[in-house]
Amino acid sequence: MCTQEFFQAQRSQLVGRLALRSLENFESILDYLLSWEVLTWEDYESVSLPGQPLSTLARRLLDIVWNKGGQSCELLFAAVRKAEGADEQTEPGNQWSQNVSCPAQDLQRHRPVIVRKIYGHVEGILDLLLEHGFITKYECDEIRLPIFTSSQRARRLLDFAKVKDNGVAQFLLQHIHQLPVLPAPFPDDIAYKKYMAKLKSTVSSQSRFLSTYDGTENLCLEDIYTDNILEIRKDLSVSASSQKCHDIVELPDIFGDSGCINEDADTVLLVGEAGSGKSTLLQQLHLLWATGRHFQDFLFVFPFTCRQLQSVDKPVSMQTLLFEQCCWPDEGQQEVFQYLLDHPDQVLLTFDGFDEFKFKFTDRETHCSPTDPTSVQSLLFNLLRGNLMKNAKKVLTSRPHAVSPFLRKYVRKELSLRGFSQGGIELFMRKHHSDPGVADRIVCLVKATSALHGLCHVPVFSWIVSKCHKELLLHGCSSLKTTTDMYLLILQHFVLHASPEDEGWHPGTTTLRPRLPTILHLGRLALWGLGTCSYVFSAKQLWASGMDEEDLSLGFLVRSKSFSQESSAPMEFLHITFQCFFAAFYLLLGAEVTPSVIRCLFNHHKKPSRSLAWLFPMSCVQSPEGEEESVTALLQKAEPHNIQITAIFLAGLLSDEHWGLLAECQEPSTPLLQKQSRVRWCLARGLRRHFQSIPPAVPGEVKSMHAMPEFVWLIRSLYEMQDEHLAREAVCKLEVEHLKVTYCNIGPAECAALAFVLKNLKQPVALQLDYNSVGDVGVEQLLPCLRVCQALYLRDNNISDQGICRLVDQALQCDQFQKLALFNNKLTDNCAHSLASLLKYKQNFLALRLGNNHITAVGAKVLAEGLKDNNSLQFLGLWGNAVGDEGAQALASALHDHRSLKWLSLVGNNIGSLGAQALALMLEKNVSLEELCLEENHLQDEDMCTLVHGLKKNSSLKVLKFARHIISFDLHNNTVKQALLLSSFYREGNDTERG
Ligand code: ADP
Repeated sequence: MCTQEFFQAQRSQLVGRLALRSLENFESILDYLLSWEVLTWEDYESVSLPGQPLSTLARRLLDIVWNKGGQSCELLFAAVRKAEGADEQTEPGNQWSQNVSCPAQDLQRHRPVIVRKIYGHVEGILDLLLEHGFITKYECDEIRLPIFTSSQRARRLLDFAKVKDNGVAQFLLQHIHQLPVLPAPFPDDIAYKKYMAKLKSTVSSQSRFLSTYDGTENLCLEDIYTDNILEIRKDLSVSASSQKCHDIVELPDIFGDSGCINEDADTVLLVGEAGSGKSTLLQQLHLLWATGRHFQDFLFVFPFTCRQLQSVDKPVSMQTLLFEQCCWPDEGQQEVFQYLLDHPDQVLLTFDGFDEFKFKFTDRETHCSPTDPTSVQSLLFNLLRGNLMKNAKKVLTSRPHAVSPFLRKYVRKELSLRGFSQGGIELFMRKHHSDPGVADRIVCLVKATSALHGLCHVPVFSWIVSKCHKELLLHGCSSLKTTTDMYLLILQHFVLHASPEDEGWHPGTTTLRPRLPTILHLGRLALWGLGTCSYVFSAKQLWASGMDEEDLSLGFLVRSKSFSQESSAPMEFLHITFQCFFAAFYLLLGAEVTPSVIRCLFNHHKKPSRSLAWLFPMSCVQSPEGEEESVTALLQKAEPHNIQITAIFLAGLLSDEHWGLLAECQEPSTPLLQKQSRVRWCLARGLRRHFQSIPPAVPGEVKSMHAMPEFVWLIRSLYEMQDEHLAREAVCKLEVEHLKVTYCNIGPAECAALAFVLKNLKQPVALQLDYNSVGDVGVEQLLPCLRVCQALYLRDNNISDQGICRLVDQALQCDQFQKLALFNNKLTDNCAHSLASLLKYKQNFLALRLGNNHITAVGAKVLAEGLKDNNSLQFLGLWGNAVGDEGAQALASALHDHRSLKWLSLVGNNIGSLGAQALALMLEKNVSLEELCLEENHLQDEDMCTLVHGLKKNSSLKVLKFARHIISFDLHNNTVKQALLLSSFYREGNDTERG
């Protein structure tokens, strides 16, 4: 192969060698090529354009060299080797023969060594040239620009000398001769490596500790981090039944291919409710990277919070964002930035808390220039869209409500944070309490208190329990049911912590009165923040809102993590939920807040209008005039989701349980009672409106309602009030037969609320909770409403045997309960006994759908025993289990004389000939089965014939499905022909339900 061909064959590798290293490496290759006259000056200028991606310049250079022929190609290889330091035979520094007649040529011929001689002396040389009048001040400044590295300045000086015909080249040559040769300017890309190291150590120190809320301790993240359940969000455009497994991913695998919905996008979206652990998970990601344990494909990780970005009020460029908002390179800024632009695949940017970004995602403004400044929101949106730093990975976290379909278009994969598993809660407590005795007691306490157990799946609640463990162990936690209970507990804990002993405040004496001024100060600030989408408060704002040392010492305001590098970091609430909690306090106890604002809270619809930062530059907090209007305006401008959380707390604070605590704090003028009755009215009316909006049932169909997220919020607020009477009033007259609450982020806490309210329905209801995260603990919470459930659909809810066994125990006592759907959970043979007893003892039970679980022949045999004693079941779904031949045989034999089963699915169950024979025998005898689904098994032509044979004596079956088997049709073979005829004889039904 000739050099040119070889050169061409090596092209992609060469591009890599030229572009994947630093700009310095590339420029030193150019030095060699210039000095060997492979490149003309014109060529050189075309491959050294500033601001162009290195890969583009590299490709251009290869084209130029290739066009010049074989020898030039050879020289390019030599230059690459020399620049990489592989070829040590460098020109001896001082021994070049001077060509006095043409010093400019001399400068060019010895360019590589001259650069190495002068890069450390450019400043001095420039002063000298200035002194001798060879250069103007302006020209000096051009060479000195801070964006250039010292070797780049050296090259610019040589370029200047080349084009100036005023003796400067001659002067330079003479001067240079006396200088020693320095080591290569930046051997092996030191600038970017130094930056990488600095970034790593910055991120490491930022992520090492989990600053706990009260600021009394600093926990090592490593010691207390507990795995959080991370689930891949299903692609809703694909039929849910065909999405097999429960896709849980581990944190280190979040960039893997599974779950990818858009190959072209770079953003991994991480969604979770407030307190579900998004920030902590991101912090763990940063720590794993910074300590070299995972994510090492990324050389650079840039962590941002949307709170921090929001505070940037001037135009920013990509470079300013990375360097000024994250980590500043001590040298070679331009070179480092160029490296980042050239190697986006080595870069990860994380953005925490998109729901707190006051700008809504839009793709209206396109900004592609990495160097031009633009607004911070435009920068973020264009990064997410891939217009900037394409191929750099991004992780964005958000609460669900802030994720629009618009944003989803640019998402590579979406993950949901489901909170701690049961084991996770236990592990969390053990990690937080080194004394195993204490840890044991806390774990027992949590497990024994069902409502508390449900709440603890949300990490922030686990943290509260852990923090308040002393109070809980002392006084028990039977009274802890609601979110408000938990937040009051932690408030009391902090008050206790901040009170000197002699003030006489103890848990149990339950008075907040001495701390009322502080609570109101915090509440005012919180509400103002919600209304202006401000979550971080400067010292000036704190001062303006009347906060004093005592207020701060309570511990609910902490230094903002987003601004940790600054010495006077602003303050933020421990967590957004605490901001809402204090805002609720203020709405109830603030002297000037009238009951009319309650309506505004529960009828909240955000009005887009002028910025409240302008309307209320903290003045509303300072002056009481027009307070009511100000509060209303703030509520109208706040993020609806934060208003919902505030309303939940407000309802909780007005519960009978906490009435005493609140009433003690009210001034004579505080219309607390009026506020309470307004809340009741709003809740009851809100729910009624929801139900009334359901269109009347189509004749022949049940009246069904698809719940909106607002419905779940109203139910939660009702639950917080713990007012049985109100719950009864709100729903007892409502008529709905099918209530669909799918894809609504229903966890255990929501299940408790649903049960609390729905148990009052007068008519039986089919409750459809598919595609949520109910889990075993959620199932437990649902038990109180099982009595009114005619059917319960719990597809894809992370439920295991334990949860189902509890459910069945209860269901056996519920006359109306007739249908259970459990497609895609974690059931194994261990729950088969329980399910069999459901079949055996509940003779009005109609449908059991167990598709896509882990039931084998062992479980199928147990189920078959239950079936033998049953005479009501009509639908049995076992799609996607592994009952095999033995299981099929057991089920078939149980069905010989079964009189009610109409539909049986054994799709995808590893069934072969033996199973088919047993099923054929069953078909000969059974007189009720109308549809049998056997797709995706191991059936052969003969098995089909066997089944067909069985069918000859059967008169009930209308549909036999065995598509997707590999069946060879031979028209000369009579039996198979018969099968063909038969399969066309049986009508294909709708395959709507597989599970
Ligand atoms: P989010 O960002 O979703 O609102 P956070 O990450 O702030 O939630 O979590 C709230 C609190 O819960 C944290 O401050 C921490 O105390 C606790 N927490 C969250 N996730 C974990 C975890 N994986 N391991 C240990 N503690 C956690």
